[in-house]
Order: sequence, then C-alpha cells, then structure tokens
Amino acid sequence: MHSPEPVFSLEFFPARDEASSERMLQAATALNELSPRYVSVTFGAGGSTRAGTLAAVQALRAQGYDAAPHLSCIGATRAELRDLLAQYRELGVRRVVALRGDMPSGMGPMGDLRYASELVSFIRAETGDWFHIEVAAYPESHPQARSPDEDLKHFVEKMQAGANSAITQYFFNADAYFDFADRALARGITQPIVPGIMPITNYSQLARFSEMCGTEIPRWIRLRLASFGDDRASIRAFGHDVVAGLCQTLLDGGAPGLHFYTMNQSEPTLGLWRELDI
Ligand code: FAD
Repeated sequence: MHSPEPVFSLEFFPARDEASSERMLQAATALNELSPRYVSVTFGAGGSTRAGTLAAVQALRAQGYDAAPHLSCIGATRAELRDLLAQYRELGVRRVVALRGDMPSGMGPMGDLRYASELVSFIRAETGDWFHIEVAAYPESHPQARSPDEDLKHFVEKMQAGANSAITQYFFNADAYFDFADRALARGITQPIVPGIMPITNYSQLARFSEMCGTEIPRWIRLRLASFGDDRASIRAFGHDVVAGLCQTLLDGGAPGLHFYTMNQSEPTLGLWRELDI
C-alpha cells in the first residue's frame, strides 16, 4: 500500500434549516485552506434529504469545491435514481458516493436495487464513466454482515462493479484498517481504500453513533472519555491526541489519504490537519 500523493477529502451533512446551512457553509469556508481534493455531502436514505443534499452540493460548488453527493438506493426506484443522476450530471458533478443506505424503520418499500454493488452497476450502465464512484468500506465489518469474509466478498463485488475508490466507516483501531486493506488487496482490489476519520468532540454522541454503525471504541479510550464527564475541553483535547495519532499511523503505514467526517464543524478537522506531517 503506497500512494505517492495522499488524497484528503471532507464530509458534510445537509442542513435542516437556514441557520444550520449558514454554519455548514462557514465551516466549509474555514476548511478551504486545506485544499481538499473533494468534499462530499451525505444523503438521508429514502430520499429524506434529497433537496438538502442537492442544495448543499450547489452551495459548496459555488465555493469552488469539487462536491460529491452521496446517494443511496434503498427505497428508490430506478427511475428516481436515473433522474437524480441526470440532475447531478447537468450540474457538472463528476463524483458520487454510492451507498445502499439504511431505511428508517417502518418507512416505505425497499426499492428496485438491494445492494450498493447493484447501484454501482446501475450508475455505470446509465452514465458510463461520467462519474468517479466512491463506495463504503467497513474495516470492522458492516453491522449486518454474516461474517467478515462475506462482508469482504461483497465489498470486492462492489469494487469490481466499477467503483473507483472506497471510504471507510470510522474506526479507532488502525490494525483493523490495515488488515482489511491487506485482505482486499489479496483479493485483487487495487483501488484506494481511504480511511474515514471521525474527530472526537462529544462522548455520548460518539458512543451512540459507534453503537449504531459497529465501530469499536477501545476500552481505554472509552474509559478516559467517560472519566471527563461534562468537561468538554478535556474530551476534545484527549480526542484530538487520539485521532491525530491514528491519522499519522495510517499515513505512515501507507493509507492513500484521509476522509474527514467534519460534522459540519471546522475546528476539530483543522486541528487534526495542522498536526499531521503532510
Ligand atoms: P452494501 O455494500 O450494499 O452492504 C450492506 C450489507 O449487505 C453488508 O452487510 C454487506 O455485507 C451485505 N451485502 C452486500 N451485498 C450483498 C449480497 N449480494 N448478498 C448478501 N449480502 C450482501 N448512509 C446514508 O443513509 N446516507 C449517507 O450519506 C451515508 N454515507 C456513508 C458514507 C460512508 C463513507 C459510509 C462508510 C457509510 C455511509 N452511510 C450512509 C451508511 C450506509 O448507508 C450503511 O452503512 C448501510 O447499512 C450500508 O450501505 P453500503 O453502501 O455499505 O451497503
């Protein structure tokens, strides 16, 4: 695993109202100094943020960013996906993050496509090489996976369906990433697998997210974070040290870049970036 030029990218989520949209754009402006290769904007499965994702992509493009919308196939028909792709293409968008997504419980039918691999094939069939396609990877296994091997097999199928690169779920165990990347390489996957990096700023939120998405917070990190109680400054300072160390270990070990989950805040990501020996 060696990349001469690591690729850095940022992720935002679409704002729910004007005030939070303003905050997202302020964060994006502050992060401009990092000159990321691209920024991405998440998508609520089932189309719940379709307009918000599109608006955020437009606003970020207006700031000069190469902005990539996430799109998920769960709950969507082929016709809806075709429409959405046409809309992005018309805007000049050249990169998308293709996902299955998670349907909020009790919401609607499953849609025409079952897995992200089918979405990648669909995008290639419909739009050829127009889009650079990113997909998701899970170094600690997707929470619904039957086994790590089956999950890897499906990841390989997704890459072979035409994905250009992958972004991982966030993790705090660098070894899990290197093990996953090695196993993917052994199966012939040479496209970049870029670690997704979650800054630590809020323990209860992190614990909740991690539980949902199957990320392990190592015991020593959990105990230290819990011990700070409501002392947010200490949580941030400790979290910064842990995640900056993780980023450096990943880059030193040959990771092809880093994708920062900014949570629409500039400071945590800026802090990490400035610390890195890039
Ligand atoms: P898939 O790759 O389809 O995998 C889903 C599960 O199905 C896995 O367990 C896999 O092993 C299994 N599987 C795959 N193919 C097969 C098959 N042929 N047969 C049987 N089992 C199979 N969610 C959102 O709603 N919006 C977002 O914007 C968003 N952005 C994300 C960005 C990143 C970088 C990551 C890592 C995740 C993101 N997610 C997002 C979460 C994601 O939608 C969920 O993790 C979802 O549960 C899986 O999506 P996927 O694309 O990885 O699915």
